[in-house]
Amino acid sequence: MKAHDPQVTRALDATAKLLGRKLALGGEDAETAWSVVSRLKPGIPRVGIRDLDRRPFGEEERDFLKEVADLMLNDIVASDESLALEQRLRLLEKENVELSMKNRALAELSSRDALTGLFNRWYVLEKIEAEMNRCLRHGSPMSLLILDIDNFRRINETHGHVTGDQVLQTVGRMLRESCRIYDIPGRYGGEEFCLMLPETSVEKTMQVAERLRQRVAEAHVAAGDGMLRITASIGLAGLESVPDEAIFGATALVERADRALGTAKDRGRNRVEAWSAAVAPRPSDVEA
Ligand code: GH3
Ligand code: MG
Ligand code: MG
Repeated sequence: MKAHDPQVTRALDATAKLLGRKLALGGEDAETAWSVVSRLKPGIPRVGIRDLDRRPFGEEERDFLKEVADLMLNDIVASDESLALEQRLRLLEKENVELSMKNRALAELSSRDALTGLFNRWYVLEKIEAEMNRCLRHGSPMSLLILDIDNFRRINETHGHVTGDQVLQTVGRMLRESCRIYDIPGRYGGEEFCLMLPETSVEKTMQVAERLRQRVAEAHVAAGDGMLRITASIGLAGLESVPDEAIFGATALVERADRALGTAKDRGRNRVEAWSAAVAPRPSDVEA
């Protein structure tokens, strides 16, 4: 409540009527016979009430008017304080929103691959780890596939790095368009991509991978002025409903998918292979 608020005016009018006087706010600097001021509150301007006809107040009137002035002062101070508090809260809320937006943007930036906009290796590894823990707890399946563009070095050498980058962006887009909303597509590094599929069996992931392989093989990729055909090999591995003691973490699962990828390369490229215990370890294929 401010000094000129209708509420103050109403209180003053009621007081004037009660005392049969013409009262006004003011005279807060010094007390006179026809004016009173509210009791001092350090650092806060006081409220004064004066008689417009300058008729001196009696003792009882003086006490009563001081009480009224105090009440008015309290109301004014309280409303100022609450206003200040409200403003401060609003400011803090705004700062909080801005901060969390900045945090989100930073987290987003640090989890993305700049060229393709897909998640980066670190983010995907983190998600694989979390999903694996969830699977082990609930006994649900999950899968991971790793896609590697075939003979990519040759594409770079023949058409240049800019075209190579365009190919990477196109494959990244195909990967993103091939997955469901809760799948995690990423660029694992260089010309290697990965896709983590929560709640998905290896069998189902084989179908997803096969569709993706076909899509890549059938695409005409813009390369400078012309078009280019590419192929990719895919390796996959998963965690089935029966907990697999041999898999302790994300890198172990990636290693399996990578070995399956090595098998796909060995067997002629442009194909999909799933990890199985029968696949011999080929440490030279493991880039992770
Ligand atoms: P393979 O079929 O066995 O996979 O053969 P490859 O030629 O695809 O594999 P290799 O590992 O020999 O070559 C990968 C190439 O990818 C080498 C590297 O120059 C290129 N590369 C890695 N990152 C990028 C990138 O960000 N942009 C471009 N243009 N090329 C990249
Ligand atoms: Mg590679
Ligand atoms: Mg390659």
